[in-house]
Amino acid sequence: MKCKICKGEAYIKIKYPKMALCKEHFIEYFEKKVQKTIKKYKMIDPEDKVLIAISGGKDGAVVTYVLKKLGYNVECLHINLGIGDFSKKSLEYVKKQTSYIGVKCHIIDLKELTGKSIPEVKSRKPKCSICGTAKRYIVSKFAYDNGFNVMVTGHNLDDEAAFILNNVMNWSTEYLARQGPVLPQKGKFPKKVKPLYELTEEEISAYSSAVGLEVFSEKCPFAKKAITLEYKEMLNKLEETRPGTKYRFVMGYLKNRHLFEKEIEDIPLIECKVCGMSSSGEVCSFCKTWRLKEGIDLKIGND
Ligand code: SF4
Ligand code: ZN
Ligand code: ZN
Repeated sequence: MKCKICKGEAYIKIKYPKMALCKEHFIEYFEKKVQKTIKKYKMIDPEDKVLIAISGGKDGAVVTYVLKKLGYNVECLHINLGIGDFSKKSLEYVKKQTSYIGVKCHIIDLKELTGKSIPEVKSRKPKCSICGTAKRYIVSKFAYDNGFNVMVTGHNLDDEAAFILNNVMNWSTEYLARQGPVLPQKGKFPKKVKPLYELTEEEISAYSSAVGLEVFSEKCPFAKKAITLEYKEMLNKLEETRPGTKYRFVMGYLKNRHLFEKEIEDIPLIECKVCGMSSSGEVCSFCKTWRLKEGIDLKIGND
């Protein structure tokens, strides 16, 4: 296989659009695609202060690497969840990646902050549900307290296609109304964007090795085989025989998303009476789950 552009040795065979590229031209293709996605969905302006939450995995590392290379004003945040060895290794990778990329990384230790790590929190809710609440809350509060106006996540085309399919299978129309590459700012929650929205997991893995990023791929001990993983496998099978399936599915969803919009019940946000963050109830779910008596302050000094 030869590179479509220079006829050199191919590094990757992209399924859709079908083409083989050498390492150098693949890197160029990937970065251009990220930049185009940012422009297409009006994700980030050059003057924005951007926060990326990273856990050591490939998606966060790759999106940080590319945004930094494209010249955006980015900083990272890592939350140490206190899940034994898994969290220790995750932190090691985060440190390696951010020093390799040359980006500032803020680290928040959940136990130091609240007195309880993820395994120690008592709640009837599943671990992943409370962990999700903690991550979403801390990243948003950190962004708000420190003037970051855009939050970036590493979600890719495979994640989005599987998420949409799952919500179609369950007819969760409210979720279908809310998804997309850009989630606008609401109350004290900053705008959220997904610059890898049109890139596949396979392309992201290939890019991370091409640019020399070391990525953490161990599973959290609390992770269960989510149904979305089965949907990802199914979609990848379809992609083999019908290249472009995932892309067309996600683009078709964006075109038709307005059909679900009436499903959104627009609950006005109020301020949590403990921490002051935007919340749909009197006390936000983070303060409730962690039984906080007073709000946490995540404002950083000039570190
Ligand atoms: Fe948190 Fe682990 Fe669940 Fe992920 S799998 S949400 S890290 S508890
Ligand atoms: Zn080439
Ligand atoms: Zn609160």
